Amino acid sequence: MAPPVRIAALGGLGEIGMNCLVLECDGRIAVVDCGVLFPNEPLGVDLVAPDLSWLRERRERVGAVFVTHGHEDHIGALPFLLSQVPAPVHIPRFARALAARRLAEAGVEADLREVSPGEVRGEGTPFAAEYVAVTHSIPDSCGLAIATPQGTFLHTGDFKIDERPIDGRAMDLARIEALGRSGVRLLLSDSTNAERPGTSLSESQVGAALAEVFAGARGRVFVACFASNVHRIQQVAEAARAEGRRLLLLGRAMEETVHIALDLGYLSLPPWLLCGAGEARDLPPRELAVLTSGTQGEPRSALSRLSRGEHADLSVAPGDLVVLSSRFIPGNEVAIGQVVNGLCRLGATVLHEDLRPLHVSGHAQEGEQRRILALARPEHFLPIHGEFRHLARHAAHAAAEGVGEGRCHLLADGDVLELSGGGARVLEERIAVGRVYSERDPAGLTEIESLVVKDRRLLAEAGLCIVVLVVDRATGETVRGPEVFGKGVAGIDGAEAEIARQARAALDEMTPAARADPSEVQEALRGAVRRWFRRESGRRPMVLPVVLEL
Ligand SMILES: [Zn+2]
Repeated sequence: MAPPVRIAALGGLGEIGMNCLVLECDGRIAVVDCGVLFPNEPLGVDLVAPDLSWLRERRERVGAVFVTHGHEDHIGALPFLLSQVPAPVHIPRFARALAARRLAEAGVEADLREVSPGEVRGEGTPFAAEYVAVTHSIPDSCGLAIATPQGTFLHTGDFKIDERPIDGRAMDLARIEALGRSGVRLLLSDSTNAERPGTSLSESQVGAALAEVFAGARGRVFVACFASNVHRIQQVAEAARAEGRRLLLLGRAMEETVHIALDLGYLSLPPWLLCGAGEARDLPPRELAVLTSGTQGEPRSALSRLSRGEHADLSVAPGDLVVLSSRFIPGNEVAIGQVVNGLCRLGATVLHEDLRPLHVSGHAQEGEQRRILALARPEHFLPIHGEFRHLARHAAHAAAEGVGEGRCHLLADGDVLELSGGGARVLEERIAVGRVYSERDPAGLTEIESLVVKDRRLLAEAGLCIVVLVVDRATGETVRGPEVFGKGVAGIDGAEAEIARQARAALDEMTPAARADPSEVQEALRGAVRRWFRRESGRRPMVLPVVLEL
């Protein structure tokens, strides 16, 4: 009898980002994608990665990492993974170039093996993954048809069905249909846009909209888009060329990615088009276009600095036009709003929502998701890549396409789905999942503990109240205090003495034995202060008791 196959996510089920799936059979493991998530809470966290402890503890058993495409939410955590789990990575060409740069920066050695659609990888594991071309918002995107002892698992990766892709590389729907005919045991499909009805527009429609905007512009034109969206960049370059504008690249991510894409032949630009910052400053506004990263309002990005008038190379002036050629990722609206306000204050016209498609999504909408379900005709369905609402909606689309009750599996990170001869079931035992936070400092990325992030959140929400008590080391008698200080605590001004009185009363109630124990004293102070806040204002500041022994 064929051994069961288990599948679980370390990330990507319940959030947009940090996608990472694990497959296990006969004690052997394969990983699909290993990405990061960009947090939208201003807590000094630059990057969130999935907790990879489960894989680290089984490092000898991991035989392959299959990467679908080069977006950060699919490759960004590879340095974390490969520094702990040295497995070969089967990765499409453009993703490989991006991952290689990231790994070199992190000083991590990796065995990256380039793979093209139609090739099968996974030797040494019970999984044979065939790469299948899909269309998305980055070159070389692939889905995976993974042959397992429990049948074929078809994983779409991130995809849309673009009938007129810029590079002419269409989604291989014929292959998906053929797989459907021979039997797909489990379909895993991108849920990001499950709530949008209809079908997504083709990337090629953005070109005409950009051309129109460029033709009407009198000042400089700034276009912000994701640095990895090479086909968008190609279209911006063409619009600039058609109007005789030179093109300046702003931002490290934009410069690096464009040069990688040029080197590998994914972009073709006339040699005169690109210009440096020095040349750009001397050009008349009518002759310059600028491509910049920072579409999500990231405070350190080039666009953000432009909006604050703090960019070293260039400043936005009245008459300039700024096009945000991107989607607002939920949670980033406030930060993006600040950037748009800043640009408007400087006199620029900002186009972000427009009658013309200045941006199209890289993700399938309901119509495309249902088309894949109809072609693949899976026995079981697992919606992936999305918040729970997206997964649930995608499951409803699957039900509408005839995937029967009990065959759509709504999973959270850590849930384990097992496929065996008896069918599919979610195991009672979950695997350990979590998040690892990092912040960027001069030394690169440094991991910060989740407790630190939790403290920052508490401090941001309600502030800090410090209670200081000085005691005699020999007798335990109070020498001074308790004294109360607030930082960022609303309603504490003028109430410090009263809070201190409450704290003193709590000390007076303690037995002499308890008074001799500094940790019990701290606990009593903390409890008294918390009770005061609960009673008086309902606020919950962080309370930090400090007992000094003299
Ligand atoms: Zn993607």
